[in-house]
Amino acid sequence: MSIAESTLPGITGDSFIGGRFVASGGDLHDVVDPSNGSTVCALRLAEPADVDAAVAAAKAAFVDWSTATPGARSAVLAELARILGERAADFAEVETRQAGKPIKLTTEFDVPGTTDNVAFFGGAARNLEGKAAGEYSADHTSVIRREAIGVVGSIAPWNYPLQMAGWKILPAIAAGNTIVLKPAELTPLTSLMFAQACADAGLPDGVVNVVNGRGSVAGQHLVGHPDVDMVSFTGSTAVGVSVMQTAAKTAKRMHMELGGKAPFVVFDDADLEAAVQGAVAGALINTGQDCTAATRAYVQRPLFDAFVAGVADVMAGVRLGPTMDPSTDQGPLVSARQQESVAAFVERARSYATVVRGGRAPGGELAAGAYYEPTLVIGAAQHSEIVQHELFGPVLVVLPFDGDDEGLALANDTPYGLAASVWTRDLYRSLRATQVIRAGCVWVNDHIPIISEMPHGGYKQSGFGKDMSTYAFDEYTLVKHVMYDRTAEPRKDWHRTIFGDR
Ligand code: NDP
Repeated sequence: MSIAESTLPGITGDSFIGGRFVASGGDLHDVVDPSNGSTVCALRLAEPADVDAAVAAAKAAFVDWSTATPGARSAVLAELARILGERAADFAEVETRQAGKPIKLTTEFDVPGTTDNVAFFGGAARNLEGKAAGEYSADHTSVIRREAIGVVGSIAPWNYPLQMAGWKILPAIAAGNTIVLKPAELTPLTSLMFAQACADAGLPDGVVNVVNGRGSVAGQHLVGHPDVDMVSFTGSTAVGVSVMQTAAKTAKRMHMELGGKAPFVVFDDADLEAAVQGAVAGALINTGQDCTAATRAYVQRPLFDAFVAGVADVMAGVRLGPTMDPSTDQGPLVSARQQESVAAFVERARSYATVVRGGRAPGGELAAGAYYEPTLVIGAAQHSEIVQHELFGPVLVVLPFDGDDEGLALANDTPYGLAASVWTRDLYRSLRATQVIRAGCVWVNDHIPIISEMPHGGYKQSGFGKDMSTYAFDEYTLVKHVMYDRTAEPRKDWHRTIFGDR
């Protein structure tokens, strides 16, 4: 089915450039529903010439948008929030079909989360201020201006397509930038719908552009483009490093949200039941395809056996099923390729660890989809692949520890530092743990919740810079110092240093 024949809400072209859908120049590419392998629609992929057109549209829109009043920008975002609310069911269904997410997740998490982000940045746009003026020298008045950077080139992954589009687009445009977003080619549809909703909300043409293409072609061209002033990327650390190498050639501003391998540390005074429930929810959210998902549980020895038994028991009750069924808890992985990748990690782990439950793709009516059972692994060494590497699937590894220092050292012992959680009833233990753990977010007695007002971003090889919250404005604005002479004297006192007393 081509896009023209599709019944997808509001998508009438391959890319969205300059305020309208346009045809792209590349090959037709199927967007596949990973729950059953069926084709949702086919889109032509963007070529470098399509990216050039999108960047030109963003560049042309920059002067007017960056000088629009905060109130005007805020009004567009308020209208966008209203439109997203109206179209919530369409967004949820398309997100479910392209990414294999259970409809429960897209309806209760992805779509309302994005709508709330829009509303947040609508308000935040009016609170973007520099420091007040001041006299830091007797002869001058200084003013700080925060200014938009220019054209932002953003690359987004497939795990939360709509939310990632929002995280990239909203702080950028609220601060007066214009943007070209390249979603993952597996999941471009809700980003395209989002761009149309922006236009319907009154966003001027060219402020938001979406090019759907391969990372190695359209993505690579975008991040190296001479007219792109900033690159913002979310995805794997390996690709992020190569994106930085390309963007560095023209000294672009960069914002990188890379991989994660979040630890989940359970001290011996923790509420065991809460920790068990939290571990299963934190490991299985979005079928484990979440950069903050709980992947490594470290459990203090006295609780270890009961924790493993509890997790196995709760995992056994998780319902895998058709994604449009509201009772389904866990959908498939995003693609057959991702399913093979996760299965291969687990198969390799069998030689050095024990798979307590799961570790296989379900049969029966789910066999046509990219499903993988909730999987629990114990007995792996800290340095082993399954403990160290991001595998992005519904797999939790549990390891024991003895002393508190050992547990925290193990939690820090991967190249990543995106998120972590600690489970304890002891205030002082939690205070120490939250200080010692090197990660951009540490939860205490919970794991996963995010909120528009608070930042998300990594330490170490999980990247740098923040999404969401007003901290995101630090990424998407430049700070300019303007210094005014206050003396009105042609000959300034400091000139003596340069040409002596005359
Ligand atoms: P990638 O990092 O490969 O993809 C993320 C985005 O980067 C996609 O839009 C991709 O485009 C694009 N991209 C790929 N190559 C380039 C390039 N040379 N220049 C510019 N953009 C490029 O992630 P994958 O989708 O391949 O997933 C692999 C692994 O990455 C996962 O298993 C997981 O471990 C991790 N990952 C982490 C995420 C996170 O949020 N931290 C999110 C997604 C993945 P396209 O896919 O269209 O080719």
